[in-house]
Formats: sequence, C-alpha cells, structure tokens
Amino acid sequence: MMPNKRWPIWHPFTQHALDNEMTKVVRGDGAYLYTADDHRIIDAISSWWVVIHGHCHPQIVSAIQEQAGELNQIIFAGYTHDPAEEVARLLLKLARQGVDHVFYSDSGSASVEVALKMALGYWHNIGEPRTRIVVMQHSYHGDTFGAMSVGARGVFNAAYGPILFDVTSIPFPASGREQATLDALESACRNENPAAFIVEPLVLGAGGMLMYPAWVLREMKRICEVSDVLFIADEVMTGWGRTGTIFACEQANVVPDIACYSKGLTGGALPLAVTLCRAEIFDAHYSKDRTRTFFHSSSYTANPVACAAAKANLDLWKDQECHQRIAAVATMQEQAIEALRANPRFANVRRCGTITALDLKTRDTGYLAGVGPKLHAFFKDRNLLLRPLGNTIYVMPPYCVTAGDLGEIYAGICDAADALV
Ligand code: PLP
Repeated sequence: MMPNKRWPIWHPFTQHALDNEMTKVVRGDGAYLYTADDHRIIDAISSWWVVIHGHCHPQIVSAIQEQAGELNQIIFAGYTHDPAEEVARLLLKLARQGVDHVFYSDSGSASVEVALKMALGYWHNIGEPRTRIVVMQHSYHGDTFGAMSVGARGVFNAAYGPILFDVTSIPFPASGREQATLDALESACRNENPAAFIVEPLVLGAGGMLMYPAWVLREMKRICEVSDVLFIADEVMTGWGRTGTIFACEQANVVPDIACYSKGLTGGALPLAVTLCRAEIFDAHYSKDRTRTFFHSSSYTANPVACAAAKANLDLWKDQECHQRIAAVATMQEQAIEALRANPRFANVRRCGTITALDLKTRDTGYLAGVGPKLHAFFKDRNLLLRPLGNTIYVMPPYCVTAGDLGEIYAGICDAADALV
C-alpha cells in the first residue's frame, strides 16, 4: 500500500495508514492541554505517564529557564555540575539504605539497558560471569533491544525476535496463582544461575495495567536474595507516587539491588533517567584496571537543564502538599471507580494508588484489536486524552487533577462503553 500523502514525521506506535489524525497541541497548563483551535483536553494519562504535577508547573519551568541560561550542556565524562550532584544527593536520600550510586541516562529504556549492563558487568568483573536474566510474563521495559529482550514477546517485536536474547520468563502472579510465580522464580534461580531478575513492582504498565500485591514483591526479593541473584526494580512507570508511595518498592519494604527511574523524574518536562545501584555493583567496576570501567554513556548524559528540572521535582516532594495530593487523587480515583464495579460492561475494575484500570467486556481484545483505536478516537472527540491498551482502559492523571475532571473522564469512559460494545 502506497501512502496517498507523504508524512514527514513518523510518529511512535502509529499506523499512519489508519490513524492519521494528529491533534495539534499548542499549550499545556496543569491537567489540561489546549489545541490550535482552542479545545481544552483533559490529560487523563499524564502524557504517557510523565507529567506528574501537571503541564508547565511553574517551579519546574522557572528552574529550566534559569539553568538554560547558565549551563545547558556539558560532557559528563571527566566533568560534573551542581544540578547532577544535587539530584543524586536527593535521590540517594530518598532511596533506602544500601543504595549508594546514581548513573544518569535519558530515557526509561536506557535506564533498563544500564541496569542490565550493570548486572552483567558485576558478575563479569567479580570473575563469575553470568548472563541469563529472569523476567516476568507481560512485562514491558522499553523498545531498545535489551529492553525488548526482557519484555514480553509479541506483535511489537516479532520482526526483531530472532536477535533478541534468550531469557527465562516466570508467570504473572494473577490472583490465586501467586505461589506458581514464586515457585517458578525459585526454580529459575536454583537451576539457571541467572545474573538478575527484572520486574515492574506492583503494576505491570504497558502489559495491561496488571496489579499484584506487595507481599509477592517482598517474596520475590527474598528469593533473589537467598539465591544470590540481583534484583532489578523497573520503577520507570511506578515511581513518583503512582502506586501511592514515592516508589512502589517501599510498600513491600524492598530495597532493590538496582532500580530504574525516569518518566516523572523531571516532572515530565524533559527527558532524563537514572539507574541506582548498591555499592557492591559500583565496587565491582572500581579498579585501577581500566578494562573494568562501566562502558556506557550517551551524549546528553546528565544534561544540566534536565537535572535542574529533576531537582525542582525533587524539591516538590519535600513538601507535604505533594504527598497529600497523591493521597487525595487515590481517594478520588477509588470513589470514581466504585460505581463502575457494578457496570456489566466492565471487568477487573482495579486500582493501585493513583492508577485505575478496567477491561471493557468485548470479544475484540488484544492490543492491536479494533476496539483500542476506536476507543482512542472516541475519547479524542470528547477532548479526553486516554490511550487504552487494547480493551484495557486506564486513568493515570497528573496529581493536580480535580474531582470534576475525573467526573468528565469516567463519564467519557462509560459513554464509550455504551457506544462501542
Ligand atoms: N520501563 C517501564 C516500566 C515503562 O513503563 C517504560 C515506558 O513506558 C519504559 C521502561 C521505557 O521508558 P521510555 O519510553 O522512556 O524509554
């Protein structure tokens, strides 16, 4: 099929032959986006889960403006700067005891690549090379090759499947099946000498907003600990209050050996990511022998302007108001979905912290099934930014969302179900 019109911009996760209606947005303010023709859109998913405090938060904007006029880029090998140092100090204060080092990168996927390289580098450098990674079914860790390798296999990566590396996958701990997950992890740790287990704590995001309890996370960490397998928490989506606490691992009292944070790290204003690790992992790379160096970088590592935005975000977390907002959003979300639990059009109505999700009862399931794009188009017409994962509709709003906004969002969801099922 030849396009009847050339599209100079190739948009992500977009089938241009089918979904060519791009909405031009000219301004963002709090939970709202404004289009070129002055429609107000409610951003119910924080623009791919990043804009945690709302669009153009004044403190983050002014931190960016100030830093951009001082120092806007500097090579980060052999040079350092205050914004990176301050962010690292604040992050390590937030991270629990035992996590001692921060490595910067610029996307969630990159932070996962760094985590995997740190894990393999650790085993290599201590002279016990291990390369196998244990993963959880339905996981999503990004779209670069390492991140795809440890994520769910399927239609998104079918073309690259043959060159993705082999992993050991354990089942998702669905309700009542938790022990099977733990047994599978135990067996993989015992029999396959893995370097690490990587997991999204409490909520598997792009895999369908699948939620599991904190005790399972705690048990998975215990199994890794007794088996001497590194535990990598990918908190790219769950971090920054999404599950009700700053990081999801807190709820299970788990201190990961390696943790990945991105998305809300800059309040969603600029791309930045970090991978935090325990001292032993850094120490395994610390040597007078240069071959043991951690060989990873990107041109924009620890960009000062992005770090200034992250510092402004971290400063907001010092304020009780931020924590109170999260608790309030979680409560409003619970109230909003309460009525939907009895709605026969929905199944598995669920919530973890500020995230809600429900599955539209339809035979048209699967991420690429027709109902997902139809729902997306319906919501666009209603000026709601919601991007369902197939028949799974989820709401992950900025923390400045109001009860009135949520009312509009859920009314839209109910109307979509009436119109499309
Ligand atoms: N890990 C998780 C859990 C994610 O949800 C995502 C993105 O949605 C990523 C990694 C990849 O992040 P990015 O899109 O910034 O590369």
